[in-house]
Amino acid sequence: RIVVAGSANMDLVGIAERLPLPGETVLGSDFVMMPGGKGANQAIAAARAGSGSVFLGAIGSDSFGVTLNARLHAAGVDVTHVRTSYGASGVAVIMVDHAGENAILVSPGANSTFTNLNEDEARLIAGGDVLLCQLEIPVETVTAACTAARAGGTRTILNAAPARELPADLLANVDLLVVNELEAQTITDSQSPDMAALLALVPRVVLTLGGSGSRYAERDGRDEFVPAFKVEPTDTTAAGDAFTGALAVAWGEGRDLIEAVRWANAAGAACVRKLGASNALPTRTEIDEIFQG
Ligand code: ADP
Repeated sequence: RIVVAGSANMDLVGIAERLPLPGETVLGSDFVMMPGGKGANQAIAAARAGSGSVFLGAIGSDSFGVTLNARLHAAGVDVTHVRTSYGASGVAVIMVDHAGENAILVSPGANSTFTNLNEDEARLIAGGDVLLCQLEIPVETVTAACTAARAGGTRTILNAAPARELPADLLANVDLLVVNELEAQTITDSQSPDMAALLALVPRVVLTLGGSGSRYAERDGRDEFVPAFKVEPTDTTAAGDAFTGALAVAWGEGRDLIEAVRWANAAGAACVRKLGASNALPTRTEIDEIFQG
């Protein structure tokens, strides 16, 4: 079972010919509303990839919260331990122009109330196969979750997104770090991804490289480039979430990490073939289809 401790947002996406300037109103065309947030997306990715998936997080008492809970549940995610926080759910207001350029405002809402891991949450984490976290909830909570996981013998994956400086008491309990190139640079404060610097912080690192694939490296051990699967990309949104969710599932099943990364590459490839975010997260069958060629 995969336990995800993280964020849930409602993504409000408006499309217009061009983005408005400060103070300006622009008449748009389409509008869509869809569940998002890296935590919720990765919990859905893990469920679709064929594992039991528990989401721990805080969702608001507004109508967005009702929809977010329902969509997670419908995707097969266990939402029985989700906190309901009085007030607004997390929301991302996203504007996209016809060239695909965007401007995004994230209002964390309920996500910022996910503090002080409770006993029930700590017990669930300790009983899981893999704990999966991102950085869209307070970092103290991520630290507490990884500490509870380590105490219970649960393996931990930190997808360090959005990138920020990582406290030592968090790094001490991270078994596997998943980052893209930009996040890698931010964490090590360097101009290009520095694998050695990352491996000084955590014992295992997966660096995702977009359409090229990914690289897996471990401290004093293997360092391998794992090429992407060739697909016709339609929309790369949520590729990282599909990848990370699938990686957690494969590692939780006891697969070797190189093999797990290869399978996660297939999940990322399956995701970019489809238009959309959480609705584009692939099922196990879709992942296996690409994996087996
Ligand atoms: P993020 O969205 O977090 O920046 P990436 O863009 O690195 O993450 O994508 C995550 C993974 O998805 C990659 O490691 C790769 O396996 C897969 N992927 C992304 N883009 C493509 C693509 N165009 N073709 C095939 N696979 C892709």
